[in-house]
Amino acid sequence: MTAPAVPRDAVPLVDLAWQHEQVADEVARGFAETIASSAFVLGPAVAAFERAFAAFCGVRDCVGVGNGTDALELALRALGVGPGDEAVLPANTFVATAEAVARAGATPVLVDVDPDHLLVDPARAADRVGPRTAAVVAVHLFGQAAPVERLVEAAGTRAALVEDAAQAQGATRHGRPAGGLGRIAATSFYPGKNLGAYGDAGAVLTDDAALAAAVRGLRNHGGEHRYEHPVLGCNSRLDTLQAVVLHAKLARLGAWNADRRRAARRYDALLAGLPGVALPATLPGNEHVWHLYVVRVPDRDGVLRRLRADGIGAGVHYPVPLHLQGGLAHLGHRPGDFPVAEAAAATILSLPLHPGITPAQQEQVAESLRRALP
Ligand SMILES: *Cc1c(COP(=O)(O)O)cnc(C)c1O
Repeated sequence: MTAPAVPRDAVPLVDLAWQHEQVADEVARGFAETIASSAFVLGPAVAAFERAFAAFCGVRDCVGVGNGTDALELALRALGVGPGDEAVLPANTFVATAEAVARAGATPVLVDVDPDHLLVDPARAADRVGPRTAAVVAVHLFGQAAPVERLVEAAGTRAALVEDAAQAQGATRHGRPAGGLGRIAATSFYPGKNLGAYGDAGAVLTDDAALAAAVRGLRNHGGEHRYEHPVLGCNSRLDTLQAVVLHAKLARLGAWNADRRRAARRYDALLAGLPGVALPATLPGNEHVWHLYVVRVPDRDGVLRRLRADGIGAGVHYPVPLHLQGGLAHLGHRPGDFPVAEAAAATILSLPLHPGITPAQQEQVAESLRRALP
């Protein structure tokens, strides 16, 4: 036996091996069928997953694509968002939200977030909506929906509400699933997401048949039929093998999200009253799916170092807000522009949380955190 190359954390941030065990037989069978049929690109397995995921999100159409960043770019392009247009989005999100806007040819317009939930602040979004605004991007960060009804209001009649639902598969707002709360939504099946593939994958969701058809064309060189290219698109199709994995996992997603909620409640109880620690808050009307359990702590970098030394796989999502990223320097921002996002970036800490985490592991995290605090 050789030793594993990377020592496993005592409590990993996510546990994809645990998830695989639950679906291993189904995935093996599906892979064997796909390989036997040689249908590696699109085909019936992709269509079947698209139908199942559309139903799960309560929308008419799901279009599987290569990853979540492409999903957002193609959703924007289907809406006709491009050069000369602006898209409003929060300053604290994964860089892909802004990247997709820029790749569509439009200009990202960043706004600060609310200090309680770190979700895009709808009043600030409304302030930045102007004659060039073509889209307002609601990022459902950490597993809970942004306040979409206020963002729809901010968007007005000319701009579209676009959801970045990459972190919120199964989350609801006032009982309606994320992915069906705007004109069109993008999601990611990156392995660590609540519904994760075995590589890159993503999808676009919409109730609008014309937008869905446009995305189906764009993901496949601009046309749904071979050698007909009414527009120029790209190659960003959902791999058939990934669709097999996602379909098997989708059947368990509701139960896994319930496991995440139970684990979040357990952290709430274990960490209540820890000095200086702020626990995550849920926006009224939301059912949270706890993609990440994000606390705020003093001396965050020191706390993170001490947790890691204890084998606790904590992380930071995200350490640098978008306006201070080199890749977005052309937007001309400087430190101090988005004080809430900046203060959050310096204090947030993501604790291990995944379906399959045990109460004993969570107690270990809580104990380690108690000792790691300054
Ligand atoms: C993961 C993620 C994406 C991008 O997804 P990829 O599949 O990695 O391209 C976009 N937005 C947010 C908020 C994400 O968390």
